[in-house]
This record gives sequence, structure tokens and C-alpha cells, in this order.
Amino acid sequence: MTKRSTPTVLGQLRRQEPMRIVVVGGVAGGMSAAARARRLDEHAEIVVLEQGAYVSFANCGLPYHLSGEIAARDDLLLHTPESLAESLSLDVRTGHRVTGIDRHSQKVTIQSGDSTYALPYDALVLSPGAVAVRPPIEGLDHPAVHTLRTVPDVDALRERIQDLLAAREEAQQAPPSAVVIGAGFIGLEAVEALTARGLQVHLVELADHVLPPLDAELAPLLADELAAHGVDLRLGVSAQAVTEAVSVSPRATPAGRQPGEMSVSRGGALREPAEVRPPGAVTVTLSDGATLAADLVVVNVGVRPASALAVDAGLDLGPTGAIRVDGDQHTSDPHIWAVGDAVEVTQAITGARIPVPLAGPANRQGRRAADSICGHHTTPQAPVLGTAIVRVFGLTAATTGANQATLRRAGIAHEVMHIHPGDHAGYYPGAERLHLVASFAPDGTLLGAQGVGRAGVDKRIDILAVAIRAGMSADDLAELELAYAPPYGSAKDPVNMLGFVAQNVLDGTMPQWQAQDLDTAVATTLVLDVRSRPEYAEGHLDGALNIPHLELRQRLDEVTASAKGRPVSVHCASGVRSYLATRVLLSKGLDARNLSGGWLTLKAVHPHL
Ligand code: FAD
Repeated sequence: MTKRSTPTVLGQLRRQEPMRIVVVGGVAGGMSAAARARRLDEHAEIVVLEQGAYVSFANCGLPYHLSGEIAARDDLLLHTPESLAESLSLDVRTGHRVTGIDRHSQKVTIQSGDSTYALPYDALVLSPGAVAVRPPIEGLDHPAVHTLRTVPDVDALRERIQDLLAAREEAQQAPPSAVVIGAGFIGLEAVEALTARGLQVHLVELADHVLPPLDAELAPLLADELAAHGVDLRLGVSAQAVTEAVSVSPRATPAGRQPGEMSVSRGGALREPAEVRPPGAVTVTLSDGATLAADLVVVNVGVRPASALAVDAGLDLGPTGAIRVDGDQHTSDPHIWAVGDAVEVTQAITGARIPVPLAGPANRQGRRAADSICGHHTTPQAPVLGTAIVRVFGLTAATTGANQATLRRAGIAHEVMHIHPGDHAGYYPGAERLHLVASFAPDGTLLGAQGVGRAGVDKRIDILAVAIRAGMSADDLAELELAYAPPYGSAKDPVNMLGFVAQNVLDGTMPQWQAQDLDTAVATTLVLDVRSRPEYAEGHLDGALNIPHLELRQRLDEVTASAKGRPVSVHCASGVRSYLATRVLLSKGLDARNLSGGWLTLKAVHPHL
């Protein structure tokens, strides 16, 4: 898959005089580019310009320092300008912001403190990252409102939390509270961290489920986990305003009202039942009129590419505002490369050109840019899957490829499979249920997969990510040979099971119906519930005929009589027993189909059941 690229003019220049490579942004993509360039060219002058106070810091580790799991702040700082000078002979300048690019004279303009200077470059790498989206919320500038993107951000949050906890402990009051706005990957990590620090957390999300990139039928598992850890989840609403709550000391509490009964927001209206509010407390007003008392607010509603420099320099941008690059990270200027959150990539399944703000692509792109600059052979940028993972208390949620919403929007035909196997052999202690959803094209090609569970999710999603990249189909998944011993997996691994199920569906061995088709199934077919009587008694669909699967062969006449010529929509708890039942019915000439994912998926899609 590697190609030998034509050595660049810059690579040839190297032989005559040292090339100057200037890198804008000193974290994931930028530092990968700088370090790789040094490894390829010992003579180049490499200058890294970073507007912040830190370079090469672990932004992905910030939530875990907030929680206290990464106890030492220094562990986040992987390098300093001094260590980079010593180990890689890099000229790293923190507090230096690039304010302009003069493409004609090949110079960047830099602001450092009060001074401004110009620096010529032979090759320029842009890795300025992304900027946080600022939602239209009144009062977003209040000091209680935080973001979680940088080391200073996490410092400020930790300081505020320490002050709040100390004040509450001294006054023997209830724990402080936080509102997290946005239930994406970083929002969820913030929720987990704040809860671990002892805060009462409210989580506000505009979409109708947490972690919007996750398919809707998996998200309720995360919602339940959040609730089990005391998180107050507000879905389908937006935060509208953050207003300062008037701090009411016990002595100042108005006559007739006990401390903690009510607090008053600036503007006078009684807002929320509350206790004595410490200085800096706020009230967050939601679009449904509800109000939440908070001692701090964390906003994480997504990012957009930091492409302002590129815009001003007249570089080509894509429709999403991300910098347009070719397979070697070249921008529309032959002397400028761009990487990371600021650039657009090709989404592997849809072919859409979009930014994918993840650390893995940024690091690989930085390496590739350096290869290209130094005239080394490059591995062209592969289409990006957007493989991502997050821990939500005891659960892991992960995704790769296209989710169902993306496939629908792109008009890509697909069939969705849901399975709920154990993460390892059921007879070996400690097996946990895994929830996997995968979409396949009609020809069997794997298009996307997602998983939620307490164990084994990471490995299955990583395998499935490789499978998508390799263009594998259901047949390939069925034949994958994966490591197995009872503590680790099953002889038929969940990944093999996905392949088997997809084979059965796609070749007609097991027709299926989806939880989303419930109304049609109830209205036009016989619903046959083949779970045990106790399971049925715990909850079932109105009008469903209950015949436990082991009794089915003896009671086929009942099915035929009840169906009255209609198709039979079979289900059990997870889809396994109903698969067996569906096969029995089909072999008797009935028009039968199995519910994908069974009652577990049905309940997730229709929580009222
Ligand atoms: P960054 O790493 O953000 O670096 C850009 C740098 O450029 C910044 O330091 C910025 O100050 C600097 N800069 C910008 N403009 C200028 C300028 N004009 N002059 C000088 N300097 C400038 N991804 C994952 O895959 N997994 C995770 O678990 C994960 N967790 C994350 C957790 C948090 C809290 C955050 C914030 C991000 C997380 N990410 C994660 C995303 C990942 O960190 C980014 O995708 C990655 O860092 C992008 O690399 P980048 O080089 O494009 O930008």
C-alpha cells in the first residue's frame, strides 16, 4: 500500500542548505510532524510555534487528571521545550502565536507578548487543532462556566472544585453541583470525572440520546449507567442562559424561609429549590423552562476546525470549513502542509469530506506531512473510519465506520444486526453481556459497528475497525480466527457471531424485523413471544402469543391458527431462541421473521414497554 512519492523540491534543497520547517501548533499533529521530521532530517531547522504555555501535552488525559486518576499534573506534560531541544534538537517556542501567513514571501508573522516578528519557512505545517463551538447561551462568559480543552482549563476546574469541596465540608452542606452541557465523548468524560470528585452532576443534551454518534438503541444503556451513578440526565433540551445566583448566607436568609429552600437568581425571580449558595454559583435555565443550580458549568458541545489562518492565507477549504489537503497532507500551496483537527478527511464509508477530530488521525497525519516534506516515501492518507471509544463509569461505548443515521442520510442501503453475546464463555466466571450493532451492505460488506458493555468492547470494535478497513464482509467475519480461551472469549467470538447472523439474514436463512418496525409488526402480523412464561409475565407486547421455544414443535397448530395467514414476527430476549423458532416455522412453510436483538433491543428503542 506504500508508494514512493517523488522527492519534493524541499527534500532536494536539504542537500545544499538546511531546510527550515515551521510548525504551527505544538500538540498532537504538530509535534508528530516535528519529531518525525527530525528523525528523517538531522540537519533541518525545525521551529515549533505554540500559542499556549504547554506543548506535547496529553489533552486526551485531561479528564482523568480532573477525576484524580492521573494524580500528578506533570504526567500530562509529556515534554517541555527544553526536553524537546535536548532529545530532538527542536526549537520550540511557547507563547508564540502565528497571526498571519505571507505565502508569497514564505513567512509567518508571530506575536509573542508585546512583540511581533516574521519567520521565513521552506516548509510550513499547520496543526492549529480545533476551536470549541460556543453555543448561543446567554451568560456563557460567567466565570463559573468552564471548558475542558487545555491544561489551564483543567487547572481552573480542579481549583474551583477544591474550593467548593472545602467550603461545603466546612459548612457541612450537600455536595456541590455541576451542569455539563453536551453529552458527547468529552462531555461524558467530564461527567464521570466530576462525579468521581463528589459533585452532583446534571447532564444537558440537545439530542434525544446521550453520545449522539452512537445508534439510538445502544444509548439507553449509557443513560441507565449515568442514572445509576446519580447523574441527572436532561435529554432533548438546550441550555438557554447561565445567570448568577445571589449568594445567601445563613444569616441573610429572609425571615420565613429556611436556608436551602429557594435561591434567587439575579433579576429577582425565584429559580430553584436550593441551599445556601456559595459565591459564584449560577442557575442554568433550560429550553423546557427547568432551572438547575450549579456551582460550576462545563460546556462541551463540539468543535470546529481552527482554519482562520488558512482562510486569511487564501488556502482552499472544504464546505465544512476544514482545510483541504491531498493524500500527502499538502494544502493548495506547495510549501504548506496541514494536519489534525483543522483538516478535512475522506469518511471511509460515505466518501464525504469532513473533519474528524481524533488523536489517532492527527498523529498519523503529522508523521505523513513530515515524510512528504523530507522527500521520504509516504503512505497515502487512508479514508477515516472515526473509530472512537469512551468509558462511562462501568460501561465502555465504542464506534467505528458509519452509524445508522449516517447511512440513512447518505442513502446507503444496509441491513442492521443486533447481538448481545457474553464477552467470554458463559461457563467461565465473570462473563458480561456485550451489546453489538453492525450494519452490512446488501453484498455483505461491513459498513459500521458499535458496542456497549462492561468488558471486551474495545477489542471487538478494534477488530471490526480493521475488518472495515480491509473491506471485509459477513463471510470474512464468520471465518476470522481469533484468540480464544474461556477467560478471554468464546470459540465463536462475538465478532464471528456477527458474521454468522449477517450471513443468515443476507442469504435468507433468517429473515428479520427491526424494533423500529414494531407498530407495523403488531398491526399486520402475529407476534410470537418464545421466551419462558416468567419472562413473558415480566413484560410483553399486547396481543403477543407466548409459546416457549422448547414447546413450539408441539404447538405449531396454535401458531397457524393464530396467524390466520399473516406473517409471524417472532422474538425472544436477545434473538437466539427466536432464531431457532424462526427456523422451525420457516421449515413448516410459515412466513416467519426474527426480531433483531430481541426484547433487549426492543426495550431500548421503546422504553415505555
Ligand atoms: P491539538 O492537539 O489541539 O493542537 C493544536 C495546538 O495548536 C493547540 O495547542 C493550540 O494552542 C495551537 N495553536 C492553534 N492556533 C495557533 C496559532 N495561530 N499559533 C500557534 N499555536 C496555535 N481524541 C481521541 O482520539 N481520543 C481521546 O480520548 C480524546 N480525548 C480528548 C479529550 C479532550 C479533553 C480533548 C480536548 C480532546 C480529546 N481528543 C481525543 C481529541 C484529540 O486530542 C485531538 O483530535 C488532537 O489533539 C488533534 O490534534 P491537533 O494537532 O490537530 O490539535
